[in-house]
Amino acid sequence: MNAIINDIEIIKTKTTKINDVDFDDLKFGHVFSDHMLECDFKDGKWHTPKVVPYAPISLDPSAKIFHYGQSVFEGMKAYKDNDENIWLFRPLDNFKRLNISSKRLAIPELPENYFMDGLKTLLKVDSEWIPKKDGSSLYIRPFVFASGNGFHASPADAYKFIICTAPSGAYFAGEVRVLIEETYSRSANGGVGFAKAGGNYAGQFYPTQLAIEKGYQQVIWTDDNTHEYIEEAGAMNIFVRINDTLITGPTSDRILDGITRKSIIELAKSENIPVEVRKISVAEVVEAARNGSLKEMFGAGTAAVISPIAGFGYKNEDFDLPELEDTYASYLKKRITDIQTNKTEDPFGWRY
Ligand code: PMP
Repeated sequence: MNAIINDIEIIKTKTTKINDVDFDDLKFGHVFSDHMLECDFKDGKWHTPKVVPYAPISLDPSAKIFHYGQSVFEGMKAYKDNDENIWLFRPLDNFKRLNISSKRLAIPELPENYFMDGLKTLLKVDSEWIPKKDGSSLYIRPFVFASGNGFHASPADAYKFIICTAPSGAYFAGEVRVLIEETYSRSANGGVGFAKAGGNYAGQFYPTQLAIEKGYQQVIWTDDNTHEYIEEAGAMNIFVRINDTLITGPTSDRILDGITRKSIIELAKSENIPVEVRKISVAEVVEAARNGSLKEMFGAGTAAVISPIAGFGYKNEDFDLPELEDTYASYLKKRITDIQTNKTEDPFGWRY
């Protein structure tokens, strides 16, 4: 089942768009590379993927993705070093997580070689699209959705797995102020919060809009039951530094098992940075902010790697994080991006 597949058909575009792209001024996920990988599930099985020109796809209006939101996705990046080698970061973890998400959404799981060999073939075809500039990378978006049709509220009988890619510049969110959420939840016990299901993100938009109207950029999600424990920062995992200890919540039904999160934990441990995986109460964070022991808060995820939080709001009160010269955030981000881009040794075997 996991043999290398050599028969991936490649249909190349006749008109490349690459000359229209300003690689010195790339935003995040705005321009798309020339090709995509496309793979169909029908007649009870996944069929060999193909590389085809990036183009709109045609779906029946009754396709179940539109009505029942049966869709999952991943986010990962490819980097190119000075010798033109192409690197991925822990890609098998993205593959495994895609299938974990699929299983929860009753979507058929993909064979590993369709994902990995499909991805490698696509990256070779579009290798010119992988930016070399420091901080830039090729953002990779694998996704699976119900293309089979019918209004019956049940799993579809056909699915599409697509990977498309977007050259992206360094992700800089600016000063991020966040609002600790007291009303809405992104996930619940027994729910789909641990899956990268499309609908999880749709459900975040409205509460995030409300936070933006109040002058914040992001929401800190709290547990759905009590809203007393912090869980995630927007679409990132969250870390808090109290004195010298880095703390992040344990993964659960409600929290995505982020690859950046677990890399930070491993890296911190190996560098003797005290790190704890345990529940973090809002009360503890507020108290630490008041007594000065709260040194840093940051989000962790593929897009930005680490996104520092400058301040937070809670119950109509605002709190500022101190402006430190040497932060764990900048140190850990550099360590991780140096490993990702082959600038340093990779003692963990993360680079692929
Ligand atoms: N939490 C959520 C809800 C996410 O969508 C993501 C991915 N953007 C993360 C955490 C971070 O995961 P990763 O480090 O694997 O990108």
